[in-house]
Amino acid sequence: MIEYGHFIGGKRVAGTSGRKQDVMQPMDGSVRATVALASAQELRAAVENAKAAQLKWGATNPQRRVRVLMKFLELVQRDYEELADILAREHGKTIADARGDIQRGLEVVEVCIGAPHMMKGEFTDGAGPGIDTYSMRQPLGVVAGITPFNFPAMIPLWKIAPALACGNAFILKPSERDPGVPLRIAELFIEAGLPEGVLNVVNGDKEVVDAILDDPDIKAIGFVGSTPIAQYIYARGCAAGKRVQCFGGAKNHMIIMPDADMDQTVDALIGAGYGSAGERCMAISVAVPVGNDTANRLMEKLVPRVESLKVGPSTDSSADFGPLVTAQALERVKGYVDLGVKEGAKLVVDGRGFKMQGYEDGYYMGGCLFDNVTADMRIYKEEIFGPVLSVVRAPTYENAIKLANDHEMGNGVAIFTRDGDAARDFASRVQVGMVGVNVPIPVPIAYYTFGGWKASSFGDLNQHGPDAFRFYTKTKTVTSRWPSGIKDGAEFVIPTMN
Ligand code: NAD
Repeated sequence: MIEYGHFIGGKRVAGTSGRKQDVMQPMDGSVRATVALASAQELRAAVENAKAAQLKWGATNPQRRVRVLMKFLELVQRDYEELADILAREHGKTIADARGDIQRGLEVVEVCIGAPHMMKGEFTDGAGPGIDTYSMRQPLGVVAGITPFNFPAMIPLWKIAPALACGNAFILKPSERDPGVPLRIAELFIEAGLPEGVLNVVNGDKEVVDAILDDPDIKAIGFVGSTPIAQYIYARGCAAGKRVQCFGGAKNHMIIMPDADMDQTVDALIGAGYGSAGERCMAISVAVPVGNDTANRLMEKLVPRVESLKVGPSTDSSADFGPLVTAQALERVKGYVDLGVKEGAKLVVDGRGFKMQGYEDGYYMGGCLFDNVTADMRIYKEEIFGPVLSVVRAPTYENAIKLANDHEMGNGVAIFTRDGDAARDFASRVQVGMVGVNVPIPVPIAYYTFGGWKASSFGDLNQHGPDAFRFYTKTKTVTSRWPSGIKDGAEFVIPTMN
């Protein structure tokens, strides 16, 4: 049995709180490991460590800092399969999908190698008589990340890489459901040359999260997870005077116009709706065909595809998706399917009864498909986070865009069409942060920024891309005049550049 503790001061350490919980292997329902749940005292030890290490790290020149990132990229290539295996076993997604989870994280690390350029300040020569003005970007100090279960490599790396590249020390509180990969990531950073104490992983639950929120030495918090927790962390973190960015849940729509290529649309929809068992914040959970004829043509092609989805254990390379993350998640998702039936939606494909032969204790369900879902139903309003797709039939394009605009969530959205004008109008008017045009999961590439709108995001800067360098640095602006100007004597009127 694996026992996960924490990673503090450059090495793995056992937990001392006496509290721990099981880490499951969703594909067969076995207990894979236990994970220690940190106390506020254990967090404090990590913060002290990080605070001391940050002073030197922040003063290291940025090119030297990013060489650690370069070496890290190399080490991950060496250990790719080991990491993908741990990830798939603890999360439940397939190994192929686990490789993608790691890869999307590495792409942000690659972009962070450009940190020396991104951190450059501005300079104005002769802003006033004998006066130069310049700005510099400096690290915040000790910063923390609180991350969800569904991308245990990608999301920690989206936070760790820019924070370290900018000269901060980082405390990661990963999901307690799959802590194995985050701990390996920390080890690989140390092997890559990161000084001890600059990156720490503290495992735990609400107790340690609250300690992070209240710790006066933690200057910024990046959170990703469900909307209620995002709101809580944003409110309490901001009240404590920290810089906070929180990314929450989603309900991503795919608008299907009458002129869309239906084969391409269905291919895109099946992958985006059911990949990773729907446990992606950019999964499509609502399909909106425009017009009844479009809806009928969609259903004709979609139903057999949902019926023939291949569910399998994470280690089965031919599986389309694996089990859900926990028994509770499985019960919750099945509960939503029961609810949809009660609310009057038409359950066209029912995956609730699916059992995986040879893996009867795993957390599996088959793909579910609802037709005739309406905007007043809870299965439409709430995030299900499972392999369940709802079809909402919209009579017109205006009705379709209104659905996406009126929904509480605004993470991702897509339009499938052959009409450039419709696509352009949609991209401009839709009230959602990330838009795909004939692209079902429009996760922006690493040098753009990632972030939703409305209840999908709290704070004003996005993840990765240029925003990450703004989030993890503070700007200092210097106005300087050298001695000759001082000979004029004291000035009592506020200096202006007239
Ligand atoms: P979650 O909100 O349950 O947990 C996220 C983190 O918060 C974990 O580290 C967890 O330990 C901690 N946490 C949980 N309950 C807490 C509490 N009461 N007090 C303090 N901390 C608490 O989310 P999850 O189930 O791990 O992840 C799935 C959710 O994350 C979905 O809603 C999904 O849409 C969202 N998500 C969003 C994005 C995005 O970028 N918007 C990306 C990935 C996942």
